[in-house]
Formats: sequence, structure tokens, C-alpha cells
Amino acid sequence: MNPPSYSILLHYSEIALKLKNRSHFEKIFIQNIKLHMLGLEYSRIELYAARVFIHDIKQDLWDEYKKRLTQIIGMQHATLVLKTATDIDEIKNATKILIKDKKIDSFRISAKRNDKSFKYDTNDINKHIGSFVQKMTNAKVSLKFYSLNIIIEILKNYSFVGFERIKGYSGLPAGSQEKALSLISSGIDSPVASFELIKRGVKLDYVHFHSYPAISNQSIENVKEILHILKLYQLKSKLYLVPILPIQQKIMEIIPDKFWVIFFRRVMLQISNIIANKINAVALVTGDSVGQVASQTLSNIRAISDASLLPILRPLSGSNKEDIINKAKKIGTYDTSVLPYQDCCSFFVPKHPETKAKMKDILFYESKINLDNLIDEAISNIEKININIKDNI
Ligand code: ATP
Ligand code: MG
Repeated sequence: MNPPSYSILLHYSEIALKLKNRSHFEKIFIQNIKLHMLGLEYSRIELYAARVFIHDIKQDLWDEYKKRLTQIIGMQHATLVLKTATDIDEIKNATKILIKDKKIDSFRISAKRNDKSFKYDTNDINKHIGSFVQKMTNAKVSLKFYSLNIIIEILKNYSFVGFERIKGYSGLPAGSQEKALSLISSGIDSPVASFELIKRGVKLDYVHFHSYPAISNQSIENVKEILHILKLYQLKSKLYLVPILPIQQKIMEIIPDKFWVIFFRRVMLQISNIIANKINAVALVTGDSVGQVASQTLSNIRAISDASLLPILRPLSGSNKEDIINKAKKIGTYDTSVLPYQDCCSFFVPKHPETKAKMKDILFYESKINLDNLIDEAISNIEKININIKDNI
């Protein structure tokens, strides 16, 4: 008998709902999986019966595969499985190999029959394999409170048995939607906001504004570090670093201090619009959450948004800080986001910023200041950095 051959069985999430361009999404999903698996052993990746298989993996390295699998956007779950013929005795054999060293006190069988021509239906399979496992282990069957869930999938060419299932983030494959430009600081919120849209398949590039050399370049270093974490999910992107110190100085010279942050943010949006148009991004992304800080009251969000022609996506606008923090921890950006840094805006923030800006005041001061040349200069001094998962291997 051949030694058992292990595969990973991946189920995708919303791609299944795409009727017309499903194959387009599947293609991107598979391309992404190949990149996620770089450096790990397998024989081939196969799309079969609306599932993806990674065949002939090294089972003893499962923990390493597992870590990578959870990062595949668009994946609902993945299971370590033994491949077997579509034959009830072979399925029993595979089950035996899987559980032979396991101490089990309760279990359930979750069978799925994709090949309806197989003579046993899911109930029959559950019963057959269930009583086989019971005899082997003396464990009891419990549909709700089990220590082991034995997963069986019956397909036409072959079948699979497994029990180690891990959950993915679901969503749409990374990079399967149009492009947006994400305004990223090294704070907690904007990396999470970016992740939420990566999860929807939006292709993100990033822009970070800095006031170097008036303040240290720590925020730049932290942002780079954060993007090296986000590239575990969206495998490649670009970062645009924009120096805005001269613009901030001009604003502070001419505009009353309570409006400074609003004007800083408006300039950020203006410059982001210009970059977005150049790189064919059709929306901007920010990490604003309503009411969290002075610049995020609804009136101020309005006064700031007014400077952008492109739509601004704010996936965290209704999220609570605690939930954002938990998400940052889960995706891995939190530890870098809480490293100390000087922020280009908070460094120059007055004691009493405006919390309810009126459009007529903003437009009045806007007419008193001309930043065109300084914006051109900032744009000509942009530094572009490529972020690519391949650089890690
Ligand atoms: P974050 O935790 O993302 O820094 P925050 O709660 O500190 O957000 P603000 O500092 O008001 O809030 O920033 C609001 C949003 O503006 C950020 O989420 C980000 O999208 C954008 N932003 C702020 N500072 C910068 C920056 N230096 N470069 C690029 N975008 C920025
Ligand atoms: Mg911030």
C-alpha cells in the first residue's frame, strides 16, 4: 500500500456566489495561494468541484502551512485531509490512519457528498464510519459536544477525510477588485481600515505624509513595518511617502490654529487625489471612526471630505475603539502601531482645535491661502517604495 498522501482542502467564500465571472476570481485566488505557499512543499494546486486542493504536502509541517493558510483572503476554511479513493472501505482505511494515535472521548462525523452517484448518502456514510470509529476507539458520538470532528468529502474522482479545520477571513481574493489609495499613518486605525478593504478584494496602494526633518522619521519606519505585515494578506503594493512640512508651515503661518488639523487633512486629501489619478486608483481609504478624536466629528469629517473629488471609504466609521484594537491584534499590526512615534499632525496640534468646523469658515480661509506651488513641490519629492511578499523568501 502507498504511504498516505496528505492534501489541504480549501473552501472559498463569496466566490461561490459569483455566477458570471467566477473563473476570474478563482484564477486570482489560485495565483494568490501559490504566492502564499512559496517555500513550502506540495506537488500541485488543483481546482476541482468548487474547491481548491494543495496536494502532497508535508504533514509534519502542518503548523507552518496553517499559519500561511489563515492569511489567504477569500478563504472560508481549510482542512488537512487524507486523499483516498471514493470507496467506503478505502474511506474507513483513511479514517483509521488519521485517528490511530488520537485519544478521543467523543466525536462526530460531518460527511458531504458532492458525487451523488456514490451509492451511500451522507446519512449512510455518517453511520458506517461512525460505528467504525466507535468500535476502534470506544468514544461516544456527540453532534454538539465532540472532541473530534471527522470531516469526509465525497467527490467523483477521489474523496477526502480530515479533522483539522482552520477558519479564514472569508471575503474576496486579495487584489480581485479595482484599486484604491489608503492614507496610512502608523496609528492603530488606518492599518485595520486597510485590512478591511483588502478583505473585500480592493487592490490597495498606500500614501503616508510625514513632517521629517521637523520630527523624527519614526512614523515612516513604523509604516514600512506595518506594510510588511499587511503584505501577508495583499501580497504586493506600493507606498508613496510625501513630505508635507513646508505645506504645514505655510498653513500655520496663515490659518488660525484651531483650523490647522482640518487644513492639514484637506491637503492630504488633495495630494492623495492627485496620486490616485496617476495610479488609476478610484477611491481613497482612511481609518476615521466617528467621534474618536476632534478631527472626526461629523462636521469636521465633512469639512475635510470636501477637499476630495474621489469617494473616501471609511470602513471603521462605525467601529468602537476596543473592536479596532482587537482586530489590530488579530491581524498582527497592533504591536507596531503602539510603538512611540511623532505624528505629523498631532505634533503641531493646538490646545483647542475646532470640533465643529463650518464650511463657510473653511472656504473663507481657503481663499486666503495658495498652496499650489508647495503641493507641486511635495509631489515632485515623493518617494516610492515597492512592497512585495517575494522579498521575504
Ligand atoms: P490612526 O490610528 O489611523 O492614526 P487616528 O485615530 O489617530 O487614526 P487621525 O490621526 O485623526 O486618527 O487620522 C485619521 C485618518 O487620517 C487616519 O486613519 C489615516 O487614514 C489618515 N492619516 C492621519 N495621519 C496620516 C498620515 N501621516 N499619513 C497618511 N494618512 C494619515
Ligand atoms: Mg493617528
